[in-house]
Amino acid sequence: PSPVITIDGPSGSGKGTIARLLADKLNYALLDSGALYRLTALSALNREADLTDEATLTEIAANLDIRFELRDGEVVSLLEGQDVSHDIRLERVSMAASKVAAMPGVRAALLQRQRDFRQAPGLVADGRDMGTTVFPDAPVKIFLTASAEERARRRFEQLREKGVSVSLRDLLEDIRARDARDMNRATSPLAPAEDAVELDSTGVDIDGVLQIVLQLVRD
Ligand code: C5P
Repeated sequence: PSPVITIDGPSGSGKGTIARLLADKLNYALLDSGALYRLTALSALNREADLTDEATLTEIAANLDIRFELRDGEVVSLLEGQDVSHDIRLERVSMAASKVAAMPGVRAALLQRQRDFRQAPGLVADGRDMGTTVFPDAPVKIFLTASAEERARRRFEQLREKGVSVSLRDLLEDIRARDARDMNRATSPLAPAEDAVELDSTGVDIDGVLQIVLQLVRD
């Protein structure tokens, strides 16, 4: 099978950016697994489904009509043919995604779909359980972290560039709440695989992290 590089870690650790840069550099395909949970959540919200009804959510996840396309160098997410790249990043979708991601039925329904992304010459898979559950045989596994304060600061800067003003303290609280939910859920809680290399990116810029990851891939 083609090699997979897994990049797991908490939200805001920079893993999405690193995964994209790494995939570009190696000419590998990219799996943004969080987008699958976000698309499931958006589809459920669009249908006004009961977000606590696991059977319904599992059915939605199993029958998702989605596609990822590269347009002008950006990955576009299509749900039933519609570009929903912007919608899936909305706060209410993020909240719903973290709820549906806690359901074992939903996770099981998305498992094979994620594995189907594996292709030649290789795949970079970004998520929470890529190294532990989805691609346990991946030859390179990275667990990327950063302190909650640093992740809140990064998010603050991102939002400021977009002209959105929020309080740093609220962001920090959000991040801590999401971490707690991701780490304490019963199914696939966020934790590094035993054979993952843990990298703390606090105080290291994106290029610095990318250089370290590339070195790990070459070794
Ligand atoms: O990474 P992102 O923020 O886009 O993920 C959206 C949601 O999906 C998060 O709440 C996260 O807990 C969940 N998720 C997951 N397993 C993954 C990827 C994301 O549970 N592999």
